Amino acid sequence: MRNHSARFFSSMATFLAASLIVTVSGCRADSADEALEPWQLAQKSEVWEPLPAIVKAPPDAPPSDARVLFDGKDLSQWESAGGGGAEWTLEGGVLTVAPGKGNIRTKRTFCDVQLHLEWRTPTEFGDLKGQRRNNSGVFLQERYEVQILDSYENPTYVNGQAASVYKQHIPLVNAMRPPGEWQTYDIIFKAPRFEGGELTEPAIVTVLHNGVLVQNHVEILGKTEWIGEPEYEAHGCAPIALQDHNDYVSFRNIWVREL
Ligand code: MG
Repeated sequence: MRNHSARFFSSMATFLAASLIVTVSGCRADSADEALEPWQLAQKSEVWEPLPAIVKAPPDAPPSDARVLFDGKDLSQWESAGGGGAEWTLEGGVLTVAPGKGNIRTKRTFCDVQLHLEWRTPTEFGDLKGQRRNNSGVFLQERYEVQILDSYENPTYVNGQAASVYKQHIPLVNAMRPPGEWQTYDIIFKAPRFEGGELTEPAIVTVLHNGVLVQNHVEILGKTEWIGEPEYEAHGCAPIALQDHNDYVSFRNIWVREL
């Protein structure tokens, strides 16, 4: 009888202590807590909410919360930057620049995004060199270009090679695969902020080329310019655009997650 009482009071004491800790710290106990001293329990730093949403991330498909911009079937998410429908070539699930038809852009506008796209340059390029060898580009918010170019054994100015933030940031390394092979870009973009027409926070971009970090949280200096200094002009959310630079660069598997 004495043993039962002792066990009962001991259990009650443990329960009350645990309740007190939960109340004081806002934490929940878990099974690993049994090994902890009271002072350790009191200093636990776990938080249990908000619960991250569940995203399915299958190996060969976009994440479940991604917006698919191109999956090989149609160009319904795209339009010509000059007005009208996107007129690039869609064949065998692959989208290819139709030289002279102009840039294409998403019908939808975007602010902060994680963007995935795959691109490929042709194996035939004659004696074309430097910027002339299969140039395109992805324009974030239609203004800020991450360069697309055949930079495999093809020297050019380094702030204009593949994976550069064009004329602003040299890629950390050249992760280019040979022409004819698919390349991937994974881009994390934080849009610039403006207040009353003035820039309050510049855009920030991180780029992985074929899984390799090539732009590490760099500050975009303004709208991409071929000649002259980049500057900012206030704008809101804007489309993602792909460049027609008169070369047969191809694309597939384009998706975006709005952040
Ligand atoms: Mg370009």
